[in-house]
Amino acid sequence: MSERKILLDERHLPEREGFLGSKITSMGADGSILKEVKTPFCDCCGILLKEVNPALCSCHRKICPSCTIIHENRAYCRECAKQIIAVTKQDFFILYGLAHETSLSDIKGISAMSSDALEESLSALYERGLVESEGIFIFTHYSVTDKGLAVLATAEQIYRREGDASNFIAKIQEASVDR
Ligand SMILES: [Zn+2]
Ligand SMILES: [Zn+2]
Repeated sequence: MSERKILLDERHLPEREGFLGSKITSMGADGSILKEVKTPFCDCCGILLKEVNPALCSCHRKICPSCTIIHENRAYCRECAKQIIAVTKQDFFILYGLAHETSLSDIKGISAMSSDALEESLSALYERGLVESEGIFIFTHYSVTDKGLAVLATAEQIYRREGDASNFIAKIQEASVDR
């Protein structure tokens, strides 16, 4: 009985992080042909990236469209975008609320944030020039600066799909319809 020779062997493997997929065909010493197909998956959510055009973040993760965060016209993964803008979810609540003409007490109520957390976030945002204030003491009115609005646009992409943030957004939008 003669030994059976494998003429064509095909292996499918997930592609490594940072690589977009490849096909390699090689021939073994015995003349067998090995075809290796590496399939790309989103390095954030794990979906197959066959039909969609993935973006590459600066950290080399390949990302599907729904995991892509656009910041200053560049595509980033969520982790990197979070690091770049350094905006916590509480900061996001304040920026989003103020940008939609919501008072600080309503922001606090809707987000169920403590007074301390609100004050801490607000002063950090102020220090960074993301919000500005007018008036004094209890008449102080806060608004979001242009720089703050640019950061907010990125923060909204990062947080909007998280349960508490999407609830917050919906409530703020309801309230601004009522006004
Ligand atoms: Zn994804
Ligand atoms: Zn990244």
